Amino acid sequence: MPVLVIAEHDNATIKGATLNTVTAALACGGDVHVLVAGENAAGAAQAAAQIAGVAKVLHADGAALAHGLAENLSAQVVAVAKDYSHVLFPSTAGGKNVAPRVAALLDVAQISDATKIVSADTFERPFYAGNAIATVQSADPVKVITVRTTGFDAAAATGGSAAIESVPAVADAGLSVYVGSEIAASDRPELTAAKIIVSGGRALGSSDKFNEVLLPLADKLGAALGASRAAVDAGYAPNDWQVGQTGKIVAPQLYIAAGISGAIQHLAGMKDSKVIVAINKDPEAPIFSVADYGLEADLFTAVPELVAAL
Ligand SMILES: Cc1cc2nc3c(=O)[nH]c(=O)nc-3n(C[C@H](O)[C@H](O)[C@H](O)COP(=O)(O)OP(=O)(O)OC[C@H]3O[C@@H](n4cnc5c(N)ncnc54)[C@H](O)[C@@H]3O)c2cc1C
Repeated sequence: MPVLVIAEHDNATIKGATLNTVTAALACGGDVHVLVAGENAAGAAQAAAQIAGVAKVLHADGAALAHGLAENLSAQVVAVAKDYSHVLFPSTAGGKNVAPRVAALLDVAQISDATKIVSADTFERPFYAGNAIATVQSADPVKVITVRTTGFDAAAATGGSAAIESVPAVADAGLSVYVGSEIAASDRPELTAAKIIVSGGRALGSSDKFNEVLLPLADKLGAALGASRAAVDAGYAPNDWQVGQTGKIVAPQLYIAAGISGAIQHLAGMKDSKVIVAINKDPEAPIFSVADYGLEADLFTAVPELVAAL
């Protein structure tokens, strides 16, 4: 049976997390189909059809699907799920909002945060903040899986030529209403898609210092900005910058941690980064245990020096 990936998109383009999810789906065996459910989402459906390895795109278009409301989107997924052995979502805020509803409606157990597809029915997933890996086997007829995107390379966004099939859109379930979105505009790369991340901790001391010290470094490197939870809780950085167990899971090419102690909950969100640079004035800080390059220094002098040298 084929495997279904639920696309994350903005009706015009496909979001990067979908590409990693396609790679995970290919490892499940069977053809990979992608569901694009939205309103006026032909652009996203066409983009999905170009993803390498995708055999077919299901395109459901209707007003009820305009804003990805979980109640409607889960009904749409369930409407097509009977034809599939696996239904995969990226383990993003959106995917985690919908997948449990789909699993409940299908009366199966959800497999959360898969980092490896061992075989069609066996998966690996981290727990205890990534300190242990569970091997999970499922006998359910449909496997509903959220995929930790950092565990899988992104499939190529182009090179495929899948057929696009229209499927009937579900009616509005009437259980939720879209009110509005407040989206912070930023020229920076999105945190989970960034190749370089400059992250700051409580040591920064204020949002002004975040801007004054870390922004120039991020600008020089074309990096996204991240933060520890302590920095976010203190109001030095916005919530959507939080990296870690209760924030975003990232694995960029380069992660620079300035004034971050390296608590286990922070490491859980960034320790798979390819190269980790830590700047901390405490030589005993746990961040140095995962760092490829450690600089024992005061960040308020080291970071401006780094910016000047770049
Ligand atoms: C259930 C739960 C979930 C959590 N989830 C997350 C999460 O998702 N993400 C997360 O980050 N945390 C999370 N935490 C919090 C986590 O335990 C830590 O409290 C937090 O990560 C600490 O942030 P920090 O390193 O910025 O601050 P601190 O622990 O206060 O560390 C500051 C560091 O800065 C260094 N420093 C101070 N001044 C300077 C200077 N001038 N120059 C250089 N270095 C300096 C210090 O030596 C220290 O190492 C969670 C906790 C719990 C209980």
